[in-house]
Amino acid sequence: MTTGLIANKKIAIIGGGPGGLTLARLLQMNGADVTVYERDAHKDARPQGATLDLHHESGLAALTEAGLMEEFRANYRPEAGYMRVVDKDAQIRFDEDINGDDGFNRPEIDRGPLNEILLNSLKPGTVVWDQQFASLAHEGSRIRVTFKNGSAIHADVVIGADGANSKVRTYVTDLKPVYSGNMVLEGAVYDSATTIPKMHELLRGGKIFALGDSKTLVVSSKGDGSLVFYTGCHLPEQWPRESGIDFSDKAQVKAWFQQEFASWGDAWLELFENATGPFVPRPQYCMPLEETWQPLANLTLIGDAAHIMPPYAGEGVNMAMLDALELSQYLLRDSMANIPAAIAAYETGMHTRFAEVGKETMENTVWMHSPEALPIMVDFFSHAKDAHDQTATS
Ligand SMILES: Cc1cc2nc3c(=O)[nH]c(=O)nc-3n(C[C@H](O)[C@H](O)[C@H](O)COP(=O)(O)OP(=O)(O)OC[C@H]3O[C@@H](n4cnc5c(N)ncnc54)[C@H](O)[C@@H]3O)c2cc1C
Repeated sequence: MTTGLIANKKIAIIGGGPGGLTLARLLQMNGADVTVYERDAHKDARPQGATLDLHHESGLAALTEAGLMEEFRANYRPEAGYMRVVDKDAQIRFDEDINGDDGFNRPEIDRGPLNEILLNSLKPGTVVWDQQFASLAHEGSRIRVTFKNGSAIHADVVIGADGANSKVRTYVTDLKPVYSGNMVLEGAVYDSATTIPKMHELLRGGKIFALGDSKTLVVSSKGDGSLVFYTGCHLPEQWPRESGIDFSDKAQVKAWFQQEFASWGDAWLELFENATGPFVPRPQYCMPLEETWQPLANLTLIGDAAHIMPPYAGEGVNMAMLDALELSQYLLRDSMANIPAAIAAYETGMHTRFAEVGKETMENTVWMHSPEALPIMVDFFSHAKDAHDQTATS
């Protein structure tokens, strides 16, 4: 049975990340005719990134509504709640299991298993792989979507969930993400217990935030025994191209780190010496805060496509999943007059939410890359721990 406004409507979601897959699940379980068109050739085409902590009011709320909490509990990683704040010489300044005793305050799950849970919840064939969105055109009340391989489909409603560099975005708004001034460089080390035992020990299955001299390095363990890490520092937007660095050459990247992070200790070098695969530079962008666009009748955006922001508040995936939850609820609500009204109502809430979360994210991005970052971070987590301890004892 199909409920709400979407009975007999064909819905196309562009992009099968956490946002797009959550939306597909929530709509499909209510009888919608929904298809996800994903650029990747298959589900294992790319190594999946770091561990994500899901928040009760957003990511977990969406999973609850999707009926997937049992699968989540079977796959989350309680040990990943361990978090250490260290200085540039890898000396521990704060050491805590911020998740508390049951590990379920902000439970962590690897991106791969999260995507797997969502994919397995969909009917076979819901995700069509190897479909890179190229363009769209409005044809009467429908939308024609064309893919890079030349194929095309028609849909009644299209949702762009195609991430940070969304191509659907330009069909919805003239707003463009603004460079934050912060450059991330991401790397991975497989089998960290064997390859870099000292760093593995320091990490103890969780996360390390290293801060110093206006730079950051975040290291996260993954359930498959690997770790991922990313540096953060002030660099020009065009640095990936203009630096001339070959990011597949470990020696070149290590030399860059030694120069850019010159005041940092040697403890970090083993990450660069033992990295597996190419490094990925990621200039960090943020959509303009408090700016909106005129909602369209049958085309909208969710997740990073709607509101890309840097990773320094840990909200990206949570916001993507909350967008999916709210959009599905408006589309399924009998009291909505029509689909354009549902999209408008969703976007109003989404813009308001992003104005707040994006502001906090940009504030974090600035202070975490300031000279005072380390004491601020230690203070922040000490207060969070005190608050948690008080709640636990009261
Ligand atoms: C280094 C780093 C660390 C992060 N850490 C965290 C964290 O700790 N916590 C957190 O909440 N968030 C974090 N994020 C942000 C988080 O990854 C994103 O906010 C989240 O993945 C957004 O989900 P999404 O579904 O909107 O987009 P994505 O996860 O980017 O998914 C988009 C999908 O669309 C597909 N696609 C792209 N283009 C096309 C196209 N043209 N046609 C078809 N398909 C297409 C992609 O292949 C992908 O599958 C981090 C990001 C980075 C870069």
